[in-house]
Amino acid sequence: MKKILVTGGAGFVGSHLCERLLKEGNEVICLDNYFTGSKRNIEHLMDHHYFELVRHDITNPYMVEVDEIYNLACPASPVHYQYNPIKTVKTSVMGAINMLGLAKRVKAKILQASTSEVYGDPNVHPQPESYWGNVNPIGLRSCYDEGKRCAETLFMDYHNQNNVDIKIIRIFNTYGPRMHPQDGRVVSNFIVQALTGKDITIFGDGTQTRSFQYVDDLIEGTIRMMGSRSGFTGPVNIGNPVEFTMLQLANEVVELTGSKSKITYLPLPQDDPMQRQPDISLARKELNNWAPKVPLKEGLKYTIDYFEKLLSK
Ligand code: NAD
Ligand code: UDP
Repeated sequence: MKKILVTGGAGFVGSHLCERLLKEGNEVICLDNYFTGSKRNIEHLMDHHYFELVRHDITNPYMVEVDEIYNLACPASPVHYQYNPIKTVKTSVMGAINMLGLAKRVKAKILQASTSEVYGDPNVHPQPESYWGNVNPIGLRSCYDEGKRCAETLFMDYHNQNNVDIKIIRIFNTYGPRMHPQDGRVVSNFIVQALTGKDITIFGDGTQTRSFQYVDDLIEGTIRMMGSRSGFTGPVNIGNPVEFTMLQLANEVVELTGSKSKITYLPLPQDDPMQRQPDISLARKELNNWAPKVPLKEGLKYTIDYFEKLLSK
């Protein structure tokens, strides 16, 4: 039985990861400061004998004997990470230093949840890991993008300088049950708007694209990455390469919910990337032929079911 620390474990992705790791017979310590996560996301795990919940902020050091660390703590929605940009940078940078220090001390393997945002508004399409990106270092999104880029640098430097066993994944837009209804990201926004009969808010003209991955596919890729061959550090893209415009997504959500909501157009936020699609050849090669399995329509149905139940409570 492995003892595993999951930072950000009470968040959307973290809660699914904790659940899966427990199912596989591990002992899980879930650490979170509840900025965007909540106890509700993990309440079904509370009675599990091998689950432990710790309120802690990763900008402060944390000591524990563990075999593996999944470093997920960081707000992921633009609305949340821009709420306190300095704190976002601290979470990514100081959090990485604290967790890497811990990994070094206890000789744990450590995985960093990085992001497709390291590619910024990409002018190479689709994005392979070898692309260095097009990021504005002083824009509204930079606290997140540059924070995550610096965290990747720290991970590689701890690996090269101190031999820490690291793994880096670059996660592309992921959705599913347990996203916060006020999360602000596009899939949860559109579903909640459709279910409550409010206007669907498209930012810009809706021609910008994203590639949406269902959360179960991400968890599978993440766990495969932690178990990947020794010496393979990544970064590796984990995302679904099927690309949609925001207008297509809005129409799909309206159709699946049978909603009467109308579409309304609002200004496009600063530095909003125009396109995004992962090149997943490396993940296929290194992660035992990993590829996403859940198509958007199916994943949206699961997510709509979740929000329907949540909103009727
Ligand atoms: P989320 O906001 O639901 O979860 C983040 C969790 O981290 C929350 O529980 C929050 O309370 C916690 N947290 C934030 N700051 C903290 C701190 N200083 N100390 C301790 N806990 C803290 O977001 P998510 O979608 O679950 O994202 C999880 C990770 O995956 C993040 O690192 C994010 O950058 C990365 N990621 C997610 C996506 C996506 O589409 N979901 C895409 C790219 C990268
Ligand atoms: N978006 C939108 N309406 C919303 C929320 C987001 O049109 O209510 C757009 C946003 O401008 C972006 C895309 O959807 O072009 C994805 O936004 P999200 O915040 O989900 O993720 P990110 O921009 O970080 O990829």
